[in-house]
Amino acid sequence: RGYSGTVKRSQLRLEGVKDVIAVASGKGGVGKSTTAVNLAVALANKCQLRVGLLDADVYGPSVPMMMKIDRKPDITEDKKMIPIENYGVKCMSIGFLVEKDAPIVWRGPMVMSALAKMTRGVDWGNLDILLVDMPPGTGDAQLTMTQNLQLSGALIVSTPQDIALLDARRGANMFSKVGVPILGFVENMSFFKCPHCGEPSFIFGKEGARNAAASMGHDFIGEIPLEMDVRKGSDEGIPVVISAPDSAISKAYGGTAQNV
Ligand code: ADP
Repeated sequence: RGYSGTVKRSQLRLEGVKDVIAVASGKGGVGKSTTAVNLAVALANKCQLRVGLLDADVYGPSVPMMMKIDRKPDITEDKKMIPIENYGVKCMSIGFLVEKDAPIVWRGPMVMSALAKMTRGVDWGNLDILLVDMPPGTGDAQLTMTQNLQLSGALIVSTPQDIALLDARRGANMFSKVGVPILGFVENMSFFKCPHCGEPSFIFGKEGARNAAASMGHDFIGEIPLEMDVRKGSDEGIPVVISAPDSAISKAYGGTAQNV
């Protein structure tokens, strides 16, 4: 309401939502969306919280596929979109509103107006936590989200690799600059455990995100290994936390969710 196409500095507090937490990364492809999805599902199913997931990655929305949702949201009488629930998580994504394979070639103002719709125009009901899968990087779209929404904190997802960490640090600094507390770093693709001999290989380097968090004075929230079941879960739309709830990887997500 009151959105006029320009970035407003007044922050929106979502009624009924206790905490809004941004899941961010400096770089694309580090597993931010995969982490956001599995954490949301773990927070709902392992921690028994009322959880929402807002896919604000406007250029590459992943939630429709990863959460297996392919319909448009219903609209309330006062013209708000009703999030679509799957695996115990209420979801909203720009991907619900555009055709599946259509390119999203929007200029800045359209991105801003889409983000405003995604934040102001959704009837979330009562939630303990709303996770926001942020667009990667530290540009306009990210700033708009941090300025529009009253965020309780931000989780920074990074691989242990130097190049990813460089951008992750940038991302963390952006949140700090606008006064959003950093809840901590999650290291994704921390290692690959050989299914034959059980030996871990540190494909993207060892403990990079843990060290980066320590050097910046931030907490380290958890490490998620590189694992085929995670990738499969994302592609098939059944998060590994649901398909194999007692596996080591699901426990890694569960432990990380508890630290959040
Ligand atoms: P981002 O949101 O950072 O762009 P995605 O979450 O889309 O990244 O992940 C990029 C790719 O890596 C996807 O194909 C996803 O399935 C895969 N992936 C992410 N995390 C893991 C993991 N821990 N193990 C295996 N594959 C992963």
